Amino acid sequence: MTELRKARIATASLAGCFGCHMAILDIDERLIGLMKLVEFDRSPLTDIKRFTQRCDIGIIEGGCCNEENVHVLQDFRRNCDILIGLGQCAIMGGLPAMRNAIMHSDEPLRECLEEAYITGPFTQNREQIIPNDPALPLLLDKVYPCSEVVEIDYQIPGCAPTGDVIFEALNGLLSGKFKGFERENIRFD
Ligand code: SF4
Repeated sequence: MTELRKARIATASLAGCFGCHMAILDIDERLIGLMKLVEFDRSPLTDIKRFTQRCDIGIIEGGCCNEENVHVLQDFRRNCDILIGLGQCAIMGGLPAMRNAIMHSDEPLRECLEEAYITGPFTQNREQIIPNDPALPLLLDKVYPCSEVVEIDYQIPGCAPTGDVIFEALNGLLSGKFKGFERENIRFD
């Protein structure tokens, strides 16, 4: 009997807190059944840094706050048939996008960095230097949701989404029967 090909999944964490990746583990014992249907490619879960082949599903946590995030996201779009934005940071920028509201000066990014590294009430920085090593990825002017950078096929809401909702989405996509979420699974009021 021919064995069914496992779906290949890649994941990445951009400007997020890794909570959405931890939520994948909240699928709990259903992961055992899921792992019979999927295998992971590039992902912090496997520590594989580059795509080894084209993937069926890409899962992105976090939005884009620097140029490296943009490159990773574009790489996922090129290499994945279906791209999923997982969690509020991927969908609308989330907590990192709080810096988008800092706009009192003509240089909001500089104002934000000065507050973080120099003038903040709990900051101790005798040299008064804002980190600027060339090895650091260039910060973008603001934090962008993934859908403003590439086309996103599905979004899984929540901060973090529950393991149930992630399982429902993956299971539905793998069986070709995903039709969106029931309201009670994604309402937060
Ligand atoms: Fe973390 Fe919430 Fe953002 Fe997910 S949506 S990366 S849990 S802050």
